[in-house]
Formats: sequence, C-alpha cells, structure tokens
Amino acid sequence: MYPEVRMRRLRTSQNLRDILQETHLLPSNFIHPLFVVHGEGVREEISSLPGQYHLSVDELVKECREIYAQGVRSVMLFGIPAHKDGTGSEALEDDGIVQQGLKALRDALPDLVTIADVCMCEYTDHGHCGILHGHEVDNDETLKYLAKQSVSMARCGAKIIAPSDMMDGRVAAIRAALDENGFTHIPIMSYAAKFASAFYGPFRVAADSAPSFGDRRGYQMNPANGREALREIELDIAEGADMIMVKPALAYLDILHEAYMRYDLPLAAYHVSGEYAMIKAAAAKGWIDHDRVMMESLLAIRRAGAQMILTYHAKEAAKLLNEGKF
Ligand SMILES: [Zn+2]
Repeated sequence: MYPEVRMRRLRTSQNLRDILQETHLLPSNFIHPLFVVHGEGVREEISSLPGQYHLSVDELVKECREIYAQGVRSVMLFGIPAHKDGTGSEALEDDGIVQQGLKALRDALPDLVTIADVCMCEYTDHGHCGILHGHEVDNDETLKYLAKQSVSMARCGAKIIAPSDMMDGRVAAIRAALDENGFTHIPIMSYAAKFASAFYGPFRVAADSAPSFGDRRGYQMNPANGREALREIELDIAEGADMIMVKPALAYLDILHEAYMRYDLPLAAYHVSGEYAMIKAAAAKGWIDHDRVMMESLLAIRRAGAQMILTYHAKEAAKLLNEGKF
C-alpha cells in the first residue's frame, strides 16, 4: 500500500508509458463501411455523415484503393438501389448495385476483403428488413430472400457474408444456401447482437432506409437486455456463424466484453453512424479534440474485446496511426 506502492512510478515518461501500453490499434483492425450508388463519377457527401460519400462503382474503386493503401484490409458495402419495391428485388440480382461494386473490386483489388451486408431494408419500399405479411415482417419467408441475396453476393465476389436483419434462423439458412451453391469457403459474420438503437439515425439518411411505418423493435433487440444478447450470440454460433458482431459499439461495451470472455469466435463491433456523427458535430463546434476523441473511442472498443471495428473513421484513423501520431 501507499507510500510503498506508487502507481505514478509507471507513468513517469512517454517511453515508459509506451512499453506499458496494453492495447494497440492497427489499420488492419478496421473495416470501412461504404455506400454504393448507380451512375458514374458520383461522389456526393452524405449530409448526416460529413466526410462520407455516396459513391458510384468507379469512385468506389478509387476510394477503396486509398483505404487499402492506408493498411485497411476490409470494406463493408451497402447499396442504394435504382428502385425499391415490396420484396427488395434489386438485392437479389447479380447486376444489383452492391453486386456491381463487388465485381469491380474483385477485379481492381483482388486482395481486399469485401464484406456484403445482407438485409432487405435498403431495397424495400417499406424500409423494413424483410418481407411483409400485413404489417409484420414474415420471418420464415424472409429467410428465403436473405439466402438468395447471400448467394448472389458470394457469386459476385463477396469474401464474407454479413446478415444484419435479425431474423431467427438466418445464419443456418444462409450457410445452407452458400454450401449448396459451392460457397463452402465463404465465412459468415453475423450481426449477432444488434440493438434497436437511436444511434443508427444518420445511416438511415445515408441509405434512405427508414421504415415507412412502425419501427424495428419487433426484430432488433431491446437496448436494456444484456443476457438476451448473449443468447442471440450463442444461437448464431450454433447455427454456424464464423464471426460475431455487437452493434452499436460504445454504448454496448459491456456486452462486447462479455462476448469476448465467453466465446472464442472472432469478434467485431460496429461503431455506428450516430457515434461517428456525434464526434464530427462536437469537433466542428470546437467542443472536443476530434482526433483524440476518435482514437480514444476506437481504442476503448478494441480494449473491450473487438478485434474488428467497423467504423466510418477507418481511413482517417489508419492515416493517423501510419503517421505515428497515435
Ligand atoms: Zn435491415
């Protein structure tokens, strides 16, 4: 005890603090989410996500080259379809917008790890994550669509399939469909514990995917429930998930850490649009130090147990790390 024990002895110089640092970030920890749109030469800033863009396929390739050059090895693609309908049909087509992006990236950057987000909400005119039966999302009917979407994404070059819909049984359905179609080598990263969170607000503007009626609380999780989150994760593992994800990140670090302690699967956290937008907005006001708050947030997510962090900060954070600033 004090005065013999003095913790400050271990903090007396930068070099000493460096050798004692327990957690480190690497550019390869990051996965950059990106939004693909139809057209050519399109690079439009998303109003709710400053510094993030709607990118046509040619611009997507350019952006991915820059991201890859910073040491980020993976991107997650979201699509804004040309038309939306009741069954989200563009999600299933090999010339759908995400599929076009995947094919272009397969040619241009064959080593980039492309992840296809699998869900219906970006593609349906009602904005819900599945096929409707009246005003309810029909779980079992939706599974068939998710399976088809996954096979199409794999056929077009996705290296990982990431279902984000929160339907029951989707991991098993997707695994079976991938295997039947010769994609036994394609892993599934499941959004295993995805909460019905208000932190998704800016994404819904970016993907134009807000539900036209009701909300997603009939399939996404109640933010109050930690034990239920662990059950969700356990079920996805039993169904064949190769990697698991917790979403959002900072408000759910307790769940992330518990998942890290309990399960041996690679663990991802999605640092979501609202988390990004808050940092950008407060920094723009001059209220916080942008770079330090960004890096501290990412480090905290890593420390809690995520080895993969999906974040809109991926490129700028990697750049700072490469410049030796953090
Ligand atoms: Zn969805």
